[in-house]
Order: sequence, then structure tokens, then C-alpha cells
Amino acid sequence: MTADATLASLSAGLRERRYSSVELTQAALARIARTQPELNTLITVTGEAALASAAAADQQLAAGTAGPLTGVPMIHKDIFCTTGVLTTCGSRMLSNFVSPYDAHIVTRLKEAGMVMLGKANMDEFAMGSSNETSYFGPVRNPWDTTRVPGGSSGGSAAAVAARLAPLATASDTGGSIRQPAALCGVTGIKPTYGRVSRYGMIAFASSLDQAGVITVSAEDAALTLQAMAGFDPRDSTSVDVPVPDYAAELQQPLAGLRIGVLREFFGEGLQPAIEGPVREALATWQRLGATVTEVSLPSLPLSVATYYVVAPAEASSNLARFDGVRFGHRCDKPRDLLDLYKRSRAEGFGAEVKRRIITGTYVLSAGYFDAYYLKAQRVRALITADFKRAFAEVDVLVGPTTPTPAFGLGDKTSDPITMYLNDIYTIGANMAGLPAMSIPCGLADGLPVGVQLIGPHFSEGRLLAAAHAFQRETDWHLRTPAGVSADFAAGETR
Ligand code: GLN
Repeated sequence: MTADATLASLSAGLRERRYSSVELTQAALARIARTQPELNTLITVTGEAALASAAAADQQLAAGTAGPLTGVPMIHKDIFCTTGVLTTCGSRMLSNFVSPYDAHIVTRLKEAGMVMLGKANMDEFAMGSSNETSYFGPVRNPWDTTRVPGGSSGGSAAAVAARLAPLATASDTGGSIRQPAALCGVTGIKPTYGRVSRYGMIAFASSLDQAGVITVSAEDAALTLQAMAGFDPRDSTSVDVPVPDYAAELQQPLAGLRIGVLREFFGEGLQPAIEGPVREALATWQRLGATVTEVSLPSLPLSVATYYVVAPAEASSNLARFDGVRFGHRCDKPRDLLDLYKRSRAEGFGAEVKRRIITGTYVLSAGYFDAYYLKAQRVRALITADFKRAFAEVDVLVGPTTPTPAFGLGDKTSDPITMYLNDIYTIGANMAGLPAMSIPCGLADGLPVGVQLIGPHFSEGRLLAAAHAFQRETDWHLRTPAGVSADFAAGETR
């Protein structure tokens, strides 16, 4: 293993004084400067502030008061509010918005001593699967720069894949952590709905949105989640359940783990180049002592259709706050109040966001509410019940994260339905509020393949343990794109 390939090893390197946090931060900033023109992973780089927090971290390290995350550089998805720093959510609407407060997880990771390098590019308001809806231009996949990194957390995933930082925060409403993690060959975890506070995370579809993290390894995800998870009274859906010791839970033995293979995930549309590595991953878990049985969730194929009613409905309501009055983009010289609303919104939102607002408004309208929104909520209940039944028989559900590897930039932008089908395997977990992960399990013609694990509510520890056991047996998570040094401390890359 490369010496400093992970957050865990960097943390050790800092304590052993092999380098300082300032040195590590300088190396990361140099990598960012070098790759930004090509990859466009970041919307904002906060170099000066990063070096100042790194210097403070070095003092803590010297004083012996450092924690496991102290001094480690990281990146926040630009959906998380950061005090005094531009927070755009990938939109023209917020292209001038400097947040007056920190999101909950921003505070948590700051308190843990992490060094923020900047804000990651993303699909506008987290709506997308390719990072092509960003007002700030698309992100390119470091494995093949003619291809997309996935979305909406495309900047976060590409940044970790290019080893600009060992971790980046992300959010997942229908797959936006797992799908880009899979397409970029990195590890991503979407925790249980309510496990991590949504306070200060710009809302897309509030009943589905969940903050999480993209890392190199499951062990790193455990370390980060430890700092992020926990009750927050400022988010009314935050759940007051004690946070386990995830690092300790990583060591759970796999013997006897009951894995359910999702029949519905291995049908039409799944490319053989993805199926092969996913089946091999299942064989690895079996060798490690897990049992594998097939499980069917008959309502799961309805999840994409259900999502594209529920998510736009909530988005249309959430995005009503952007009206040009209180914050964000305001049109020039409005004639009257109505003109202000109309033009500010017309200019501030991109095409995909407008499509969602129109769809959402339609499905909530008096004449169509029962036929669409109410029906979608009923189907959502069926999907949740399917999962519940499955988890009476198995501990973890496993399947592919995406049907195909990373596709070309521009390939799907003219066909929203094809784009939406990218999340066919990920949306179910959001519908039921379940924790889910994607970890790298192979390459298809040189492009990363992800395997997905879904567990019952609050089973993050078990998912992380299964992923960790796999990553001890394999090195897919440590592979990097051509020209990218896996060693974070090595400085410039490419
Ligand atoms: N790709 C899905 C969408 O466009 C999911 C996005 C997300 O999880 N934020 O809505």
C-alpha cells in the first residue's frame, strides 16, 4: 500500500511528524492548482484560510491535543453553508451568496481540526447525475477526462479520485454520493436519514436529502462519520440515537453475515462489464464467511418513477425561497415585485432546475395531487415495506451501484429520462431512508466499477465493516487514475 494513500495514514503521518499540516495543505493546494483547469472540481478555493487552519492544527498536534482528524485537508460540497465563504449550490441563483453561518457538519469537522481547502463543484441544487447542470461548468472524470464524474457530488468524487484531498463531504437525495463514488472509483457512504444533521445543507427534497462523505476507504469513512453523526436539535428530522464507535465496529467479523443479492438489480440494462466485478465481490465476501442468497424486492423497479414525483414536488416547494428578495441573484432594474420574482428566477435557475420546479408544481396542483403525488407516496410506502421484509431475512443487500461505468460528457444531456435511469439502483435506499455505501470493486475497460451495500436503519457500522473487510482483501480502492500519485503527501500530481 502506498504510504500516505488514506486519511488514516495521513493522520498517523501528522502525529509522527513526518510532515506538518501546513506542508500537507500546501501539497494539496498545489495539486488543486495543477488539476483545476482540466478537472474543474472546485468552485471556490480557500487557500489562505486553509493555511491558517493548518497552522492552528500544527499547534494542536505539537501540544498533544489533536484528534484523529486534526490537520487533515478536506473539501466541502458547495451545498453546505460555510461562514464567510461563497456557497453557490452550483447555481447562478446563489453565485453571489456568502453564507453567514456554518452547516452542522461544517462546524463538526472544523471542531475536529480538519482543514477546508475549498468548495466542490456539483450539479445545480444537486439535481443531476453527471455534474453537467452546474452553472460553473462540468467536472471531468480523472479516469478519463472525456467522461463525466457522475453527480450531483461530481466535484467531491473527482477530487478524491484525483487525490486532491483524502475526503470530501457530499449529499445524497437519490444517489448523489454513491453514483459519483462508483464512477470515480472511490468510497461513498449515505448514512441513515436523520443520522447526520441537514442543518445548513441547502434543501433539495427534504424527505430524501442526506449528508454523507466520499473517501478513499471504508476505514476513512468510519473516522469521518464519527465526527459528523449525532443528534442536532436544529434539524427536526435529526434522530436522537447514540452514535456507535464506528472504528470499533469496523472490526466486526464477517462470519455469518447474511448477504441478500437483489434480483431486481441484475436484470435488463445492467452491463456485463459491471455485473462481472460485482459478482466477484460477492464471491470475496463469501470467502470471508458471509452467506449469499437471492432476495426479491418487487416494488423496487418503481423507485425511479416514484422519485421523479416526490423529489420535484419537494424541490418546487423548497426552491420557492429563491425569489430575488432575501438572498441570491436579483435581476437588474425590476419594474415591480412580480417582475422581480419572475426575472430573478428565470435568470437564476438553469434548465434542469426549472424542469423540476415545473414537474413538482404540476404533481402538487389541485387537479393532479391524488393521481401523482399521493400515489407516489403510496408506492414509496410499498418500497419501504419491501426493504423491511428483506431485512427480516438478510443483514445487507448487495448489488451494483450503477448500470454502466462513466459515460461521455454530453452523451445524455439531451435526454433527461436516460439521465434519470442512472440512479435506478440507488434511489430505493433514499425512499426508505436506509444507509447505503458504494465501494470500488473493479475496472471495466479502465473505468471504475462500484458495488453497493444497503442495510437496515442505523446499520452504518455493519456496512462499514463489510466494506472494510473487502478492502483488506482487495486493492481496488487504492487504485488511482493514470498520472495521479496515490500518495497525498507527495505533492503535485499529473
Ligand atoms: N441524480 C438524481 C437527481 O438528479 C439524484 C440527485 C441527488 O441525489 N442529489 O435528482
